Amino acid sequence: MGNITLTMIKPVAVKNGYTGKILEKITSAGFRIQALRMLRMSKADAEKFYEVHKERPFYGELTDFMSSGPVVAAILEKENAVEDYRKLIGATNPANAEEGTIRKMYATDIQANAVHGSDSDENAEIEASFFFSKKERYKQDGNLI
Ligand code: GDP
Repeated sequence: MGNITLTMIKPVAVKNGYTGKILEKITSAGFRIQALRMLRMSKADAEKFYEVHKERPFYGELTDFMSSGPVVAAILEKENAVEDYRKLIGATNPANAEEGTIRKMYATDIQANAVHGSDSDENAEIEASFFFSKKERYKQDGNLI
């Protein structure tokens, strides 16, 4: 059981002004922000991030979308972070997401589904390193990880 997960608030949710509300929901659920940044991925960055999906039919559309505007990336810390965050965000398709989940509240459709959340402890570490160096990750006491 790992204690971090990587999230991105996706471009449409950022554009719609939901960044603050989503971060509030995340911290209220007991996640601590270890690192945080707003950035726009290049198409190549998005292709690298979603490389596991490159055989899927929506890969081109997804990577266009994810590079269409800034995202807010964050490393979140909590016991059982990956699983608990997947519960907080809800199903991939917001139409199937439970009431009160981030995707139910803020997502537009299956692609623009408001937020990303890592799907395993191993991927959480890989994705955290994709966006942040060790010099950008802080412990509770304010010192670098
Ligand atoms: P997640 O782990 O819940 O984010 O879902 P997946 O790993 O299966 O998919 C990664 C991302 O691809 C999702 O968050 C969506 O943004 C997008 N996605 C998933 N399924 C579809 C689909 O059928 N069509 C499109 N256009 N995008 C999809």
